Amino acid sequence: MKTNLQKPKSIVLASRNKHKIEELRSVLADTSIDLKSSLDFDFLEDVDEDAKTLEGNAYKKAIYTFQKTGLSSLADDTGLEVDSLDGRPGVYAARYAGENATYKDNVNKLLKELDGVANRNAKFRTSICFVSDEGTFFFEGICEGTITLMQSGTGGFGYDPVFKPNGYSRTFAELNAEEKNTISHRGLATKKFVTFLKSID
Ligand code: IMP
Repeated sequence: MKTNLQKPKSIVLASRNKHKIEELRSVLADTSIDLKSSLDFDFLEDVDEDAKTLEGNAYKKAIYTFQKTGLSSLADDTGLEVDSLDGRPGVYAARYAGENATYKDNVNKLLKELDGVANRNAKFRTSICFVSDEGTFFFEGICEGTITLMQSGTGGFGYDPVFKPNGYSRTFAELNAEEKNTISHRGLATKKFVTFLKSID
């Protein structure tokens, strides 16, 4: 994709999650872009993720960070959509079992809701929003799979112990970080964003 955009010198990732920051830093390592994050700006406050869509939450975080720092900014939001639950927990994945739910609470609630349910198809979806002087751009990544009957694996986080990506016999929690990044919703959305950045001369 060729564009008339200007390649940004710096980008701020609107996140304090060190894992996400390092992941993006490593994929941008072969570019001249200086990656910053919310950790570099102590005046940035947390943004309420109260939008009804992933795109809405990603946009809220990216536009806030862009307006406060004056630098091109990037944010992501991820949801888990389970077919037989009409797409729940969806955008509410982090708070499925309640406002202060732990990963474990959410996984237990999901397994309970799916007890005896045959259709266990689900997908993770990530929306990345990039805001710069030249506009707002969205990038989506989807990973389809099934919710297992039991938890297995100790890697990753969130719903990883019960999510088995299609074509794999192991859950996300049983894959190593590199295997997961290659096929994951966030990995795929990030890849689209990086391809977009690299297409700017
Ligand atoms: P966030 O938008 O990245 O903060 O993700 C929201 C919620 O979705 C997290 O709190 C997790 O419960 C879940 N989630 C996001 N990404 C993953 C993943 O890669 N594996 C398992 N759960 C995830």
